[in-house]
Amino acid sequence: MIKTDVIIIGGGATGCGIARDLALRGIPHCLIEKGDFAAGATGACHGLLHSGGRYVVSDPQSARECYDENIILRRIGEKCVERTGGLFVRLPGDSKLYRERFLKSCEQIGIPTQILSASRALEMVPNLNPEIEEAIKVPDCSIDPFRLCMLNIVTSQKRDGIIFIRHKVTEIIKSHGRCVGVKAADQVSGDIREIHGNIIINATGAWSHLVASLAGNEVPLTLSKGSLVITNHRLTNMVVNRLRPSADGDIIVPNEAVCLAGTTSLPIEDPDKTRIESHEVDTIISEAGRMIPHFNETRIIRAFSGVRPLLKASKADSREIPRGFQIINHGDGMYSIVGGKLTTFRLMAEKMVDTVMEAFNLKKQCETAHIPLEGQEELSGYPLSKRIADMKDIVCECELVSKKEVERVIEQTGTRYVGDISHRTRLGMGPCQGGFCTFRALGIMHEKSIISPEQSMDALRDFLQRRFRGIRYCLWGDQLREEQLVEYIYLGILGVEKKQ
Ligand SMILES: Cc1cc2nc3c(=O)[nH]c(=O)nc-3n(C[C@H](O)[C@H](O)[C@H](O)COP(=O)(O)OP(=O)(O)OC[C@H]3O[C@@H](n4cnc5c(N)ncnc54)[C@H](O)[C@@H]3O)c2cc1C
Repeated sequence: MIKTDVIIIGGGATGCGIARDLALRGIPHCLIEKGDFAAGATGACHGLLHSGGRYVVSDPQSARECYDENIILRRIGEKCVERTGGLFVRLPGDSKLYRERFLKSCEQIGIPTQILSASRALEMVPNLNPEIEEAIKVPDCSIDPFRLCMLNIVTSQKRDGIIFIRHKVTEIIKSHGRCVGVKAADQVSGDIREIHGNIIINATGAWSHLVASLAGNEVPLTLSKGSLVITNHRLTNMVVNRLRPSADGDIIVPNEAVCLAGTTSLPIEDPDKTRIESHEVDTIISEAGRMIPHFNETRIIRAFSGVRPLLKASKADSREIPRGFQIINHGDGMYSIVGGKLTTFRLMAEKMVDTVMEAFNLKKQCETAHIPLEGQEELSGYPLSKRIADMKDIVCECELVSKKEVERVIEQTGTRYVGDISHRTRLGMGPCQGGFCTFRALGIMHEKSIISPEQSMDALRDFLQRRFRGIRYCLWGDQLREEQLVEYIYLGILGVEKKQ
């Protein structure tokens, strides 16, 4: 049995941020995540470090929080933030009244804006629809959510934080009405670990009502599924938003070699059942295509979806629910932290740890806004040209990941999962979506005696199944042709047949 002070359930941005904050304030803690880091909404989001512009009219409080955190993250997380800048573009027919409200609200909050003529905006983003009326520049950025989580965890690990990934909390242990620990099942071996602590923080996002119920507690949530598509190259070097109230397909975010566009907003009941509908993909492409017409001809390489855990509200349209966060004290040693944004994860963690400090009657102030994220120097980071210069033996051509980099992750984590290498290096996240590099990564794992040839074939089958779940919504034109080539490679050359 392991004993600690604070148990954090959930290894998304919120949980990882809480672990970092606790570590910097010297509080012993243990984080438990059922998948890899960023396995929930964090790894399934746009990766937009909001300037606040998106919410400035509908939810000024969230917009203010986003802007403040945007400034902090640009400062402390230089290597996982790309300072792209963002444009809100107004198309013919888009409301001028909304434009006025947007500018006025930005001014009230202090979000810097610059009004650009259509020709100036087209100079900055040549792929923009030439029919735009104008654009407003804001300090939106692109952020890598996987790196963000890993970097927060570095601080925790350096200060003796205990981390269990691939461990699912299946039971909350109670004694005399108080939560005193958890049981977590190792998702690989099936072994059960018992961990005891004085405070339990439920940071499980869209699963938080389920985890709270293990202790007989309630979290009132509305679950909203959002789907996104990925293009096979960068169509813009700036974030592009539509200057209108939030709607489907109104944000395009450049992320390293690709662009992410979305999203949709559909109510769902079960966070583990998030089927993407074909009409969502069609809507995103046509709406994004109104801002960047090339979108209609560009190869879409994958669709994916995530679930927003929004605080329950009576609004019929989940887009109207405020994006603020809430800390719920269940009164039995368990706290749930729900709502918020990826952009505001640090602030959420700060408020959560302030609550813990108060419960422990301790005084140390939060330092996470001032200390740069540790471990950034080890990241390959921006710009791509730097990576090219350092490269030898490239395993993933799309994202320029070298064999050395893959070996480093295998040695550090001992992982048997290609996904873990992707989250730490971006292997397989570029245009071919792992089609041409996954078998190489598995080959390296085999070379290092981490997996047997049989296990690597099983891993390939599993990878192909998961990959197909994302790309089946985008199979037409060149993308379909490329998939046929990938199929020939795997079935014909590598002989990956369905297991008998
Ligand atoms: C489609 C979409 C696009 C978005 N785009 C943006 C954006 O561009 N910018 C932005 O700022 N925000 C964005 N958001 C919001 C943002 O993604 C979330 O607010 C944020 O990532 C939530 O982080 P979290 O750590 O609270 O939850 P999650 O990331 O969901 O983490 C919860 C974790 O808990 C784990 N877990 C669940 N049950 C258990 C258990 N029993 N035991 C152990 N672990 C468990 C899960 O595996 C998961 O990893 C978007 C959301 C969606 C859905």
